[in-house]
Amino acid sequence: MSAHIVLTSHPRKGEAASPEIHWGAATPQQRGPIVASLTNPVHRNAIGSHSGAYAVYRALAVASGQLQRDHRPDFTNTAPAEAIGPHPQWSDADKIVSLDPWGHMASSAFAERVAAGVDIRPTIAVTKAHINMPELRAAVIAGRLHPDGDILHANGDVRVTKAAVDPVWYLPGLAKRFGIKESMLRRSLFEQTAGMFPELVTRSDLKVFLPPIGGMTLYFFGDVSRLGRPETRVACRVHDECNGSDVFGSDICTCRPYLAHGIEVCIEMAQQGGVGLVVYNRKEGRALGEVTKFLVYNARKRQNGGDRAETYFERTECVAGVQDMRFQELMPDVFHWLGITRIDRWASMSNMKHGALAAQGIDVVERVPIPDELIPADARVEMDAKKAAGYFSHYTPDATELALPKGRGLEE
Ligand SMILES: [Zn+2]
Repeated sequence: MSAHIVLTSHPRKGEAASPEIHWGAATPQQRGPIVASLTNPVHRNAIGSHSGAYAVYRALAVASGQLQRDHRPDFTNTAPAEAIGPHPQWSDADKIVSLDPWGHMASSAFAERVAAGVDIRPTIAVTKAHINMPELRAAVIAGRLHPDGDILHANGDVRVTKAAVDPVWYLPGLAKRFGIKESMLRRSLFEQTAGMFPELVTRSDLKVFLPPIGGMTLYFFGDVSRLGRPETRVACRVHDECNGSDVFGSDICTCRPYLAHGIEVCIEMAQQGGVGLVVYNRKEGRALGEVTKFLVYNARKRQNGGDRAETYFERTECVAGVQDMRFQELMPDVFHWLGITRIDRWASMSNMKHGALAAQGIDVVERVPIPDELIPADARVEMDAKKAAGYFSHYTPDATELALPKGRGLEE
């Protein structure tokens, strides 16, 4: 390890050696590679570090002597299991601002520079898997899904392609999307991360930021190569992470039932020759985090009058200061990345998500609400509150309905 700590806050001698980035350029060579590795700081042209929040574990591995500080990945056989793109949207700097459209091709598109010693790393990986959920087997037994031996097997196995996507933020584009000044965005990022990334305020020449947050996982059902063609029908569920429900089956919300229903809709679409897509965003508890979420659960269940829909959003706002921090404004980027301009079946009741797609010119043909029989009893509070707030459904509850306590007490 070098004896000196290298500060990245100001340009250093030889900084001209870092490759230029022309966001929105038509080819990877014209766009230039994103270099966020720390192994050779002279090459860096981005703020932040690879692997999002996991960079902290990498630091522990280096500090404890288990990982060489200058370890370079060997990319043999890591190429995407399915080709994605390029699509025309990739060369529009305003359409994609929160991920690198060339991120899955980084090691091949820039193979020469990698070989020459520039530490360029993929920010997207594409692989294949089989998934299996009890809800899908139940849907087969109930006669809603029909195994075809290809996409859906009789034992409930579903063949999928999946992609992991790390966030790559183009700061001028992000500021434009939110209608704010880039300087205000940079300052807020700098301050709210407690000064973790000084370049945000000292290096206005660096326009790309790899934020220390979770990214997303995409699950594709059917033939991925059909995406981007106007005739391809697409079904989709955009799902924001809810670990308690998604993994552990907690019944206070509708997350896992909605996820399973979305997958069902996606399988049907794939079986009809279209493509199904589940976008799974790491935005736990409306991006407020799980600690805040559990505090809100307690506040809801302990309040006078019990857990009821009329105070559902208010209790969140009391604790977090806002109702929601998911910022759906950035969510459509993934559709631009996949060349999708029309979603034929949209498994979601969220007006914020729907509005964000419309603002980005992506058509939603049919909105598919969750069937009532798939909603757990304790989740009625959330469902009624969302419907009353204008979420999409075929029924809107009235004020008397919203005042009724419907959630369990804390000790029940
Ligand atoms: Zn949930």
